[in-house]
Amino acid sequence: MSELLVLIDHSEGEPRKLSLQMLTAATQVAGETGDTVAAVWLGEGASGAADTLGAHGAAKLYHWDSEDAQGYVTLPQVEALEAVLEQSDATTLFFASGNHVKDVAARLAIRVDAGVITDATNVEVADGAISATKEVFGGEMITRCKVAEGKKAFIGISPNAFAAEESGGGSPETVAIDVTLSEAATASKITEVVKQGDADRPDIGEAAIVVAGGRGLGDEKGFELMEQLADAIGAGVGASRAATDAGWYPHRFQIGQTGRTIAPMLYIGSGISGAIQHRAGMQTSQNIVAINKDPEAPIFQIADFGVVGDLYDVVPKLIEELSAKMG
Ligand SMILES: Cc1cc2nc3c(=O)[nH]c(=O)nc-3n(C[C@H](O)[C@H](O)[C@H](O)COP(=O)(O)OP(=O)(O)OC[C@H]3O[C@@H](n4cnc5c(N)ncnc54)[C@H](O)[C@@H]3O)c2cc1C
Repeated sequence: MSELLVLIDHSEGEPRKLSLQMLTAATQVAGETGDTVAAVWLGEGASGAADTLGAHGAAKLYHWDSEDAQGYVTLPQVEALEAVLEQSDATTLFFASGNHVKDVAARLAIRVDAGVITDATNVEVADGAISATKEVFGGEMITRCKVAEGKKAFIGISPNAFAAEESGGGSPETVAIDVTLSEAATASKITEVVKQGDADRPDIGEAAIVVAGGRGLGDEKGFELMEQLADAIGAGVGASRAATDAGWYPHRFQIGQTGRTIAPMLYIGSGISGAIQHRAGMQTSQNIVAINKDPEAPIFQIADFGVVGDLYDVVPKLIEELSAKMG
């Protein structure tokens, strides 16, 4: 029996939804392997979140309450995690499969001779080993992979692959991590964090509903319509690469192979053809609605509900109906 570590992604003292989903996944895995779940919190605010982490399955909470742990500087986090691995007998670490943490995981893996699997949409236990499911080749194939025997496994979990569930656990045992940073790790410091706009809408990686617009919108004004639809139903707004390349919407909202990967409960795409590179970022959405005037558009091949029509006729009516229904 050993520990199964979950690196908690958090913002303003709150664990992000994906962190609670990872704890739920880890708790399920630990139920089969006989391991215990330990959360790792880098940065301030661990004590305020301890009960929530415990309720979602963390029996232990490793924390490093240092300003060097904040933000997106990689090396301090790598060295802190290395210190956790020295204290813990863990052979598996789950992390949120975003760009920054992938960088942390890769560097840590080199140091401790671990294998890294990213963007897992499921994890299972077979013959005592943890295997992960992930899409490859832009979502054309699904693979099941595991790290070679005898090596530590770092597994990046995709958003919304698991539902977050409380497991009835109490407050976790808290363990402060003792970290001595190398000179290189302190060479860069975050001096200011500027929050980009859109704070009123959920992040597309975490949102239960995502409304996405493409070239079919015709111009950037079309995104005002997307935002109206999103605000009527509490959704985040995403875009195809054609739309972001045209400068109609910021690149950080691009969905797809070279953008964000999302898996919301509901994706509503308007004026998006459904190119393979776009589908790679959204095809694991639980329900896909496509609005497109071309009945042959490839997006209809993966849509659960399709509306063939001009989005400028369909979307305003949709907003009217949904606004009336949602009060
Ligand atoms: C290496 C590489 C990486 C890429 N990465 C990405 C990526 O991450 N994400 C991504 O999205 N793309 C990516 N692409 C680009 C991708 O191949 C497509 O070009 C892009 O997704 C097309 O965007 P779109 O669907 O908005 O535009 P289009 O393919 O032009 O489709 C527009 C759609 O809107 C419909 N339409 C037009 N007017 C209306 C209207 N009034 N009402 C309703 N429907 C209408 C049309 O019928 C059409 O189906 C990548 C390409 C490459 C080569």
